Amino acid sequence: MGRQAIIAGGSIGGLFAAVALRQAGWQVDVYERTGVELAGRGAGIVTHKTLIDALLAVGADISDLGVQVCERVAFDKAGGRVATIPFPQVVTSWDRIHQILRRLIPDRHHHLGRQITGYTQTADRVTALFEDGGAAEADLLVGADGFRSAVRGQMLPQVQPVYSGYVVWRALAQEADLPEAIRSDVFPAFGFYAPVGTQIIGYPIAGTGNDLRPGHRRYNFVWYSPAKAEKLTDMLTDGSGKQHYISIPPPLIRDDILGQMQTEADAMLPAPFVQILAHSERPFFTPIYDHHAPVMAAGRVALSGDAACVARPHVGMGVTKAACDALALARHLDGADVVQGLAAYSAERVPASGVAHHRARDLGRFIFDDSVPNPDGRSNPRLDEIMRTTAITVG
Ligand SMILES: Cc1cc2nc3c(=O)[nH]c(=O)nc-3n(C[C@H](O)[C@H](O)[C@H](O)COP(=O)(O)OP(=O)(O)OC[C@H]3O[C@@H](n4cnc5c(N)ncnc54)[C@H](O)[C@@H]3O)c2cc1C
Repeated sequence: MGRQAIIAGGSIGGLFAAVALRQAGWQVDVYERTGVELAGRGAGIVTHKTLIDALLAVGADISDLGVQVCERVAFDKAGGRVATIPFPQVVTSWDRIHQILRRLIPDRHHHLGRQITGYTQTADRVTALFEDGGAAEADLLVGADGFRSAVRGQMLPQVQPVYSGYVVWRALAQEADLPEAIRSDVFPAFGFYAPVGTQIIGYPIAGTGNDLRPGHRRYNFVWYSPAKAEKLTDMLTDGSGKQHYISIPPPLIRDDILGQMQTEADAMLPAPFVQILAHSERPFFTPIYDHHAPVMAAGRVALSGDAACVARPHVGMGVTKAACDALALARHLDGADVVQGLAAYSAERVPASGVAHHRARDLGRFIFDDSVPNPDGRSNPRLDEIMRTTAITVG
């Protein structure tokens, strides 16, 4: 039997780590706290050559990966085109990547409804502790349990996510529901709207069941919107008055918060995007937080993906970064002592993650750059840089 690994978290970072380690001969068990197979509400994911190479490296079948877009287009407040650049890229969805990786992991090694609360370790073994009182022992524990990671909470309690001052609203509209003018002018491209103080990006993704046929796809709407800490507190409070910590499950977002968002959208956004929003399924928001762990390993325990470092979504690197972590983890452990291999993994991936983390913060800062009047998205001095460096590989 090969060496044994336990993965905390069965989202994309956890599955990538699992398939990379399995390929290197490890016996891997994934423990996901959610009790049902995960679904990402169709959230869009931009692919890069690095991500496609990583998927191929772990033996994934990437046929029908997503929708091919050919150009990036910036719009102004009136809905006119400000800039167009050729920029071929495949855009896919969280569900598609998850599905591709999930099928590489046998069900008997994939455990739903198991929450890891902490761990103990000796020189030779590590034991994961579960909320249900259970425990499991292995040679390696990987914390791929997201930006609120319990594994990181034990390893590095001083590392806490810091709120950035803005949230991202996301929504999906069915291609078939959109007016013809939007289907022809806005839908096919990777779109931007970049005035001072807010930003939209949007692009087509597959429809339900990875349907890539024209007319059956969906538009992925992503809107960065400022929200001061007090406003965020209100946004995180559900209809029963319960205040949620850090993020709120989408179904619990209050109707009056959705109403306020719609009013702001009507006032601030170009008409085509307001219409896309109006044709969308229930929108939801995610507050944008930062954190970057100074180390990604301690003894036999490693961190990967968002548990180790969040790169704000502007770089579209979260999945790619998690994939790079997974491949580096398997490579550094190949034939190596676990503790030494993890130390080398951490030394490589902390600075690499930092590049994506800092670049993403820069792109976030550009949204609020008011050095030049730009109320309508026509005069953004960094428009070309934003269009060329959003959602590309860095680090
Ligand atoms: C608006 C937006 C757009 C994005 N766009 C892109 C993009 O275009 N390209 C891209 O690459 N990335 C993008 N990302 C980022 C990407 O979604 C994440 O970075 C990526 O999914 C990282 O996943 P992860 O597995 O590390 O963490 P997560 O996806 O957060 O998963 C953590 C998992 O661990 C589970 N878990 C948590 N705690 C425990 C525990 N104690 N025990 C067991 N299980 C636990 C959770 O239930 C969850 O399933 C975007 C993010 C946002 C918000």
